[in-house]
Amino acid sequence: MADSHGTPENSNSKQNEKVYCANCIHCKLVRTPSNNNGNQYYLRVRCSAGKWRKKLGEEKLYKYFTVARRSYDYCDCYEPMGDPRDFLRDLKKSLPIKDEAYTQ
Ligand code: SF4
Repeated sequence: MADSHGTPENSNSKQNEKVYCANCIHCKLVRTPSNNNGNQYYLRVRCSAGKWRKKLGEEKLYKYFTVARRSYDYCDCYEPMGDPRDFLRDLKKSLPIKDEAYTQ
């Protein structure tokens, strides 16, 4: 992934498996207001460990519907919440297929 995550060459996980952010305790769902209507919002995800950064250092948020794509070979802050395969399978079934505006 072309961001400032700083992926080292060695894998951290004991099973040599990929790290899926959606299965990490630091991956948080947040609401961001839509520009045109005060009572609408979009869903975004953020890394509460501060790993997602833009090139100039600002925090980067990702659209919620893309959260299953956030994966790395290594993350020193990864704290899994359960078996990633089961979790990701269920998550993919429930994710929206595009960025959607929600009403409060
Ligand atoms: S701490 Fe690492 S694995 Fe967890 S959400 Fe942040 S970048 Fe992803």
